[in-house]
Amino acid sequence: MSAPAHPPPLWNVSSVLRWTSQKFQKLGIDAPRLSAELLLAHVLQCSRIALYLEYERPLEPEELRAYRSLIQRRCKGEPTQYLIGSKEFYSRPFLVDSRALIPRFETELLVDFALEKLPKGQKHRVADVGTGCGCIALSLALERPETDIWATDICPRALSLAQENAHHLGSPPNLHWCEGHLLSPLAPCAPLDMVVSNPPYLCAQELQNLQREVGFEPMLALDGGDDGMQLLSKLILQAPLFLAPKGWLLLEIGEHQAEKITQQLLLAGYSEVAIYKDWAGFHRIAQAQFT
Ligand code: GLN
Repeated sequence: MSAPAHPPPLWNVSSVLRWTSQKFQKLGIDAPRLSAELLLAHVLQCSRIALYLEYERPLEPEELRAYRSLIQRRCKGEPTQYLIGSKEFYSRPFLVDSRALIPRFETELLVDFALEKLPKGQKHRVADVGTGCGCIALSLALERPETDIWATDICPRALSLAQENAHHLGSPPNLHWCEGHLLSPLAPCAPLDMVVSNPPYLCAQELQNLQREVGFEPMLALDGGDDGMQLLSKLILQAPLFLAPKGWLLLEIGEHQAEKITQQLLLAGYSEVAIYKDWAGFHRIAQAQFT
């Protein structure tokens, strides 16, 4: 028997990564090489670095099959983080799936601002409104074990994911979960020193032009009504009922909302109102103090 004219290509770590990143690049997928590496490392259950230590290792048929199925889903737009089921936030791994928004890098800034206002070693009371996968609440609870954090979400599915994350990160005893709309489930609590939130804030127009990947995330976590301000405005009015004097409100906001947010915060009687930009230069964080 003569050998086939074109022997099947030998798929090893190196060739598979090269092929996939080229394909991702052609399709305009963000960070093509990184995505390919994350997906392959996930299938081979190793770290990204380990891929380079086994660069010539051939893939078993079973591994190839699993990898191919992930690549097909990625090509249809499913976000890499949902496919691998995890995303790092504030240097900790978080489980992510379609129950909640994938943590964004910009949101780490909200945690930075919150921590700056919560000196170590002091007991504070903080609420994280619309906790989603729990990344803000858990980061604060782990960085400030002496502070009590109440994390709320209207969506029980999101709360169940947040609780799984808490379990994986050692179940911090200072973190409490409450299901309900904004701050409403906290009614019986004593005054809070801080309310922090990354609520849904995309406006109707932004929702119509969503990146394909974002379309896989829950609308409930993104849709802020016509001008994106629906939940931000409600929270600005609701927070003073829960904050102690000099308590802080810290919000993640959309890049075009700085002016409206500033007006609403001043109108509601807050002081120390300020808007900060993210690393990309977009207005992203609003702070205000209840007086
Ligand atoms: N920053 C997110 C995005 O651009 C939106 C997050 C939110 O609405 N809280 O997709």
